[in-house]
Amino acid sequence: MIASIKDYRSACYLVDIDGTITDYRPGSMDPKQFVGGNFLFPIFCDLMVEQGIVRAEAIKRIVDLAERIVYWDYTDFIAAFDLPAQEVFDRLRAWHHENLLVYESTLALLKQLHRDGRKLYVMSNNPYVGCLLKLEVAGLAEDGASSIFTGIFGTNRVLGCKSDPTVWKRALSELPFEPDQVGTIGDNPKEDGQLPRSLGVGETIILDRNQKIPSPGIILPASGHGCDCSIG
Ligand SMILES: [Mg+2]
Repeated sequence: MIASIKDYRSACYLVDIDGTITDYRPGSMDPKQFVGGNFLFPIFCDLMVEQGIVRAEAIKRIVDLAERIVYWDYTDFIAAFDLPAQEVFDRLRAWHHENLLVYESTLALLKQLHRDGRKLYVMSNNPYVGCLLKLEVAGLAEDGASSIFTGIFGTNRVLGCKSDPTVWKRALSELPFEPDQVGTIGDNPKEDGQLPRSLGVGETIILDRNQKIPSPGIILPASGHGCDCSIG
């Protein structure tokens, strides 16, 4: 991590979530648990089964919906299948608290940038609600709003993932800053670095997560603060 806040020269930062603010705990992404290639779809599937739908049919409906609404969010499944929203969110939150860890040094940096008056936006390959759930685990969001992020560019907001230059252009076009006043903070040298830089972004901060999943001691408890594990 860069030592001084003065080393960060942009007025505005687009900040990645996965591998930057939060990460998945070891063992949390077992493909055997997936439904339709997703680790949270089992929550919808279980609730549909509890409502009397045969599991194979529930899976089919979930997968069909995810294909039909390309840039889906979790609320699309709640609405389409008449699922009990609070129960879904309780289970989604429980999953996130159990399976995510938080990079404390990124948290400290973001809070410092926010205090310093820099504008922060999320730029993530998660859907909007997915971003909020992860920010909640990090203590950066509550009741559907973030304490430090002015905006959240999730996949269903900018219609795609960060590997698509158009997605970056959509996000950049909404910022009240010229691209050269904008920086990125992320862990993917290409998506968070090379690509936005090719579109005129003035600064890219790439955190080194090569020693990927950290050792024990970095898990953030649901209510409190974990110890730092990040390399950045
Ligand atoms: Mg990332």
